[in-house]
Amino acid sequence: MIAKTLCNSSSYPTKEFQRDCMSGAMYDPNRVSLDTHFQRSGCAVLTCTKSLQDQYVTEFTDGKALKGMVNYPCTVNEDHTYQDGICKFVSGQKKICMKEGQCAYINQRALTDCNRSQFFNYSVFMQRSPKVKHKDFIVCDEASELEVILVGEYTVAISIEPFMDLVKVALPPTPLKKAPRGEYLTWIDECREICEQEVAILENNWSEAQKGNKKKKKIPYAELNRHRKLSEYALKLKTLSETWWETEYLIENEDDVLVFKPYNIDKLADRFLFSYGHKVVLMSATIIDHENFAKTLGIKPNDYHYIEAPSMFDPQKAPIRKVGDFGITYANKRETLPIVSQIAQRLCEAHSGEKGIIHSHSMEILEYVRRAMGGDKRFLYREDDRTNEDLIKQHKLSTKDTVLVSPSMTHGVDLKGDLGKFQLIMKAPFSPMGDNRIKRKMKEDPQWYTNMMLSTLVQACGRCNRTAADESVTYILDATAWNTIMRNLKRLPEYFRQRLEG
Ligand code: SF4
Repeated sequence: MIAKTLCNSSSYPTKEFQRDCMSGAMYDPNRVSLDTHFQRSGCAVLTCTKSLQDQYVTEFTDGKALKGMVNYPCTVNEDHTYQDGICKFVSGQKKICMKEGQCAYINQRALTDCNRSQFFNYSVFMQRSPKVKHKDFIVCDEASELEVILVGEYTVAISIEPFMDLVKVALPPTPLKKAPRGEYLTWIDECREICEQEVAILENNWSEAQKGNKKKKKIPYAELNRHRKLSEYALKLKTLSETWWETEYLIENEDDVLVFKPYNIDKLADRFLFSYGHKVVLMSATIIDHENFAKTLGIKPNDYHYIEAPSMFDPQKAPIRKVGDFGITYANKRETLPIVSQIAQRLCEAHSGEKGIIHSHSMEILEYVRRAMGGDKRFLYREDDRTNEDLIKQHKLSTKDTVLVSPSMTHGVDLKGDLGKFQLIMKAPFSPMGDNRIKRKMKEDPQWYTNMMLSTLVQACGRCNRTAADESVTYILDATAWNTIMRNLKRLPEYFRQRLEG
C-alpha cells in the first residue's frame, strides 16, 4: 500500500513520452536522441522475484509489470522468446509485428512505461536503458536484500573450459593470478568482443538460412540456447568492463575458473538504481542498524530519513523462545548437533498435528536433523532433486502435519494460517567464511557480519507470521544466535524485540 500510494502520487508520463513508447521510437537504439528520452515520471516498484511482481499486479490491477525478455514467447514462432525472436534475423519482421501489435514483450514494455505504477524485478530494472529509467519515485521492496542482490547481479564467473565450448573459438590467454588489473580488463574486453561476434554470426547465419524460404526453417534448440548464453555473457562482460575502475572487483583465479565479484556495492547501487529516482524509498521489515545499512549502500547521513512504522501484528501471537544452552560452533558441532537435533525432534513431537518449518542453515545440519527424525514421513527435506518450490507445493497440498526442512527458506516463503504453526532455527545463519568477499568484509567490519546474520535471522523468524491473524511460535536452538540478538537489541526493529520471550 505504501508503494502504491507513491505510484498514485507520481506524475503521469507526458503524451509525447507515451507516443514515443507506443510507436517504439523510444527504444530504437539508432535514435540517438529524442526530446522524450530521459523524461522523468511515474514510480518504479522493484521486487526480488517475479512472483512478487505478480503479487503487486494481482493486488493493484491498474499497474503494469515488465519481466525479462525470456519470459515473453515470440508469437511468430513459440520456440523463441523475445530475446532471440524471429525479428532478430528476419529483416522487416519487427515492423510487421509492431504494426499488428502482436509482440507480447513490445506491447507490455510500452504499456508499462506509459503507466505510472510500474512493477519490475531488480535485475530487469537495472539492465534497462537510462532513456526510460528516470522516475519520480523508486521503491525498493525487500531492501534489506539490496547488497546480496547487487553482488549477485554484478558477479561474473567464467569456467574456462565450458566457456571455450560455448564460444567455439580460441580465447586470449588467461591472465596470471597476480596480473595487474588492466591486464584483466583487456582479457574481459576481448572475451566480450568474442561473445558479441558469435551472437552476430549466429543471427547472420539464421538470417541467410531463411532467405528465399517462405516457410521459416526451425532453428535447433541447442543453437537458441547458445545464443541466449552468449548474449548473457556479452552483457555481463560489458557491464563489468564499464564499471571496472570505479568499483573494486575481487578476482578469484583458481583451477581455470575466473570470478569477478564486486567488493563494495555503493557505486553500483548509485549507477544502476538510485541515480534514476528523484526520491528513493527503501522498504523492509528487517533493516538492521540503518546507519550501517545506509553506509554500505553509499547513502550519506544527510541524504536520508529513517522511518520505523509500528507493526500491526500482536507480538504475543508469535513469541520467539530460546531452547537449550548450546552454542553451535565449527569446533563443537559433532558433539552439539546430535543433541540439538534430538531437541528439535522433541519439539516437533510436541507440535504433532501442526504444520511447521525447520530452518537447518546448512545441508550438513539437515542431515543431522534427518537422522534424529528417523524415517518419519512427516518431514519434507530439501534435496538435490527436490527444490524448495517442490517442497512447498507438497506441504500446501498435504492434509497431514508436514514439516519443511531446508537451509534456504529464510526469505520469501509464505506460511500463513495453518501452513506454519511453529518453526525451529537450528543455528545462527552466519554467512559462509569460505567466501573471500565475506571474509574480508568481516575483518574490516565485524558488525557488518553480525548485521548480515541478524537480518537473515529476523527474516527466518517471519515465515509463519504473515498476517495479523496468524499464531505461531518460533524456537531458537542455538545459544549463539540468541546471545547475539541480546547483544544487539537496540539495532533490531521494535516489533521483533517485542516478540522475544525471556
Ligand atoms: S517482434 Fe515479432 S518476431 Fe520479434 S519477438 Fe516479437 S513477435 Fe517475435
